[in-house]
Amino acid sequence: MDKLTLYPGNWLYNASVIGFLNVISWKLGEDVIENWLNEDGSISIDKTIFEPVKVGKENIPKSLVCYVEYLTENEDIEEWLENKDKKGNSNREKLEEYYNEMGEFGYKLVRAFNKLFSKNMPYQNLVQQGDRKEFIIFLLNLFSMANNKVTYRCDLCGNERAIEPDETSKLEKRLFKFDLMHSSLLGPSAGEFPNSFWNNNASLRICPICSYFIIHHHLAVTQLEDGSEIFINAPSFLIMWYLNKYVKAINEKVKTSEARKLLGMSVMEMALKVNIQLGKWTMMNIEVVSKLKVRHKKKVDYNLEFYSLPHEVISLLLNRKISSILTEIGETSILNLVLSQNYERIMEIGEKVFKIALQKLSEESNKTKKDKSDEDDEFIAHYFQLVKEKSDLIKISQKLFELYLLIMEKQKGRL
Ligand SMILES: [Zn+2]
Repeated sequence: MDKLTLYPGNWLYNASVIGFLNVISWKLGEDVIENWLNEDGSISIDKTIFEPVKVGKENIPKSLVCYVEYLTENEDIEEWLENKDKKGNSNREKLEEYYNEMGEFGYKLVRAFNKLFSKNMPYQNLVQQGDRKEFIIFLLNLFSMANNKVTYRCDLCGNERAIEPDETSKLEKRLFKFDLMHSSLLGPSAGEFPNSFWNNNASLRICPICSYFIIHHHLAVTQLEDGSEIFINAPSFLIMWYLNKYVKAINEKVKTSEARKLLGMSVMEMALKVNIQLGKWTMMNIEVVSKLKVRHKKKVDYNLEFYSLPHEVISLLLNRKISSILTEIGETSILNLVLSQNYERIMEIGEKVFKIALQKLSEESNKTKKDKSDEDDEFIAHYFQLVKEKSDLIKISQKLFELYLLIMEKQKGRL
């Protein structure tokens, strides 16, 4: 099997690859992707995914067929075909040529391209109307394009496979020179861009392979409640695959804007669900890349931020015993204490909960009521939203002690 092996690089490149994997996974299933992921952090993509399949009279790379179907899944193509322009021509009439060549898929292809490259779309103008067929040919030649040509280092993936664009091809000129057309994540802050990313180089080269992957990077991000978009970056595609998947799923359920909490919960989910040996190196540099849209009067701007959890916290959460007890406790307040490394507080709360529980038991048997019982109830309500029964309190306090001890053991290297 001929493979394309990729190693993690900068976050934009990583997000591009993860976005591509999302599309393939949607079509072929998650186990296909899981087979490609290597424990050393690299990924070996089966190259048959780039091979052409016959669609009507045309040859279209399989990966593009998947992408077109993915992008048009929830589209009402029939309705769109009836839309008319100012001259009264419908899309159906204008796209007859595509239908004759590729059948219904021809319509979908144009619709999908519009969703990527039209006005206000993530890669506006990168591939223009007249470029569609050239773009398909470009994809069919993705791996042979650099043969017998002078190659340069690609500024996105770092491989020696960037080439000069063909002088006669406007499409190649756009694809192979990094521009804001490539990146919605970076937003329109053109002046600040090169500095905040690699270096001050104004003309960054993109190799053919990256210029295909990069039009998937918007799919890798998760939109939070406050409108910000995040991507979890790590030095391993395997880690990024799972963490970004869990972030999306958890975000659906809990609806939060606290990226730190989402990251913590996703790391726990991964520790519990994924049976992998996580080497120490994987704990390094798991970071959240966050883009937030801000408005200055009428101007829209983007704030790009990076933050991470301390290595110690990541390594605690990656421990199955710790993650499973935190999950059993299920209280955000306690997770937050771990995230902020306030471990002593977990012990203190455990002791207090234990005292309150004993107090409540003795009140019950003596039919008396302590003065401070309202205060105690407030304390419990503040930290524990899930506790319903008094009898739960003893269990909770035991779990807090257990959690604290596990953290101490882990810190001493005994876990
Ligand atoms: Zn590249």
